[in-house]
Formats: sequence, C-alpha cells, structure tokens
Amino acid sequence: MTKVHDEVLAANQNYAKDFGDKAKLPMPPARRFAILTCMDARLDPAKFAGLAEGDAHVIRNAGGRASDDAIRSLVISHKLLGTNEWFVIHHTDCGMETFTDEVMRALLRQSLDTAQIGPGGWKDVGKVPGSSEGDFIDWLTIKDQAESVTADVKRVRSHPLVPSDVPVYGYIYDVKSGMLIDVPAATKAGRV
Ligand SMILES: [Zn+2]
Repeated sequence: MTKVHDEVLAANQNYAKDFGDKAKLPMPPARRFAILTCMDARLDPAKFAGLAEGDAHVIRNAGGRASDDAIRSLVISHKLLGTNEWFVIHHTDCGMETFTDEVMRALLRQSLDTAQIGPGGWKDVGKVPGSSEGDFIDWLTIKDQAESVTADVKRVRSHPLVPSDVPVYGYIYDVKSGMLIDVPAATKAGRV
C-alpha cells in the first residue's frame, strides 16, 4: 500500500474516534441547501461556507459545471432530501480554463499518462498509449468564470426538473483571498 493510502486510513481512525453524536445525524441536510462547485483541491466548502456534517449537500466535479450528472444530484437533493436553495460556485485560476476540448482530446489520443503544462500550454510527455474515447466527451471547459457560472445557473434555473421556487445563486470563489464574489448576472438569472 502507498504512503497516501496509509495516511488516509490513519486519519480516518482518528476521525472516527470522536464521532460522537454524528452517529445520530438524519440523512436530509439540516440547513436545507446544496452547493455545486469545482473539485479543485484548494476549495474546501466545509470551511469556506461554514458547514458541519449533516448541514448541506456538496456536489463537485471538474469546474463545478451544471452537467447532466450534477443536475441529477441537485434534483435528488431537492426532490427526496428537501434542499431548497442552491449555490453554483466556480473559482478563479480554475484548471478548466487551461484547455479546450480539442486540446484534451489530442492529449488523450497521445497517452493516458499525466501531461505537463508550460508557457506554451499543455504538452504530452506520456509513455503509455492513448485513446480516442476522449473525442466523445464534452469536457465542459471554461473560457470566462463569470460567463460559465451564469450559463450554469441559467441551465439549472431553466431545467424542467428544477422547480421555479428554488433560488440558485452564482458565485466565484477567489483562490487568492478565500472570498466568495457575487456574479450579478448569475444571481439575476437564478432568481425565483
Ligand atoms: Zn476548478
């Protein structure tokens, strides 16, 4: 087993030692809201949004995009578990701004190994073979954070499975300050 594997299990043992009343938490989020955000390792929604276990749903993917699967989770979050306000939070310096579908597809066709980014953009240095399966995936890349968060709030807002009385807020998390910055066009689009 790897060092990371062992560290994770050790941390978990420590966490479970003081589990206490968390064993009694109900499944529906106590504060009845959900956050859709990016998987970026610098973002910790529990910390930046003040969440404790049992408080809220946090749905994460690359970019915090309103993909079909993110919408699936949000619909379950409301329909079965009672959340009734949602935040869509993209962030500054997102990796999804560093490539396009074409770039990702070309990298994957060359090799599945981790690529490298330099001043000229992404470059493949992999040894293992690649695959053209990436051609069939919409990677949901981002050109402009305010635009992407607004587009995603609009998509959630206008989705036929999303009820019109669930407000959807659009924010950009600033990785330099930890602040959530309001995106007025997104917030307007997400109004009930
Ligand atoms: Zn990101």
